[in-house]
Amino acid sequence: MRTEISLLQHRLARRFLLPRPRTLVTCGCAEYNGAAQTLPLLGGVKTVACPFFMPLQRMDGSWPHPPRLPLGAGWQGHCTAPGHEGVVPSATQLQAGCNLGYASDCSWLPAERVWDAVRFSVIRDCGHRVVLCYVCEIGHRPGEHGQLEYNVLDDHWLRVHPDSRIQTMAECVVQTHLQKKSRSTPAHAADLAHG
Ligand code: SF4
Repeated sequence: MRTEISLLQHRLARRFLLPRPRTLVTCGCAEYNGAAQTLPLLGGVKTVACPFFMPLQRMDGSWPHPPRLPLGAGWQGHCTAPGHEGVVPSATQLQAGCNLGYASDCSWLPAERVWDAVRFSVIRDCGHRVVLCYVCEIGHRPGEHGQLEYNVLDDHWLRVHPDSRIQTMAECVVQTHLQKKSRSTPAHAADLAHG
């Protein structure tokens, strides 16, 4: 039974996220920790975020390419790692670790951990519903994964993650996805042209 579940997880991860079965680190975005991939997904390039990060608000900063960040933009927030719960990381930690995952240089990162990073991608957007795929990674390999779904019309999540950190990250991804989408609509382009 365990073997069957592992095989299923492997197949799903390959289908949604892995152009190569052996590693998730096929770099398409050298600016952000080398873990990004260019995938045929609606969200485009996606990287990863630290699983102990609880994002709270957008952070403008000296990001080279903010839209390519794992959560669609830079975010401030607090750490949830044991012993550092609720503590606001430094700007360096936020930029080098919290927002990017695989934060091996962060001294707050627990030596024993279930995940190194969480990856998100928007896999479907039919206007009123947005579906995200998430994968929790350890050692650049996929582990727990699944889909989360947001109803735009009702501003309501139809499928949520039980871990509030992952769910909050998913909300950040959807928020930035919808903002980018609204900016790219013809109406918005016309506003810019006449503005
Ligand atoms: S990178 Fe470090 S400070 Fe940031 S969330 Fe992870 S463990 Fe906490």
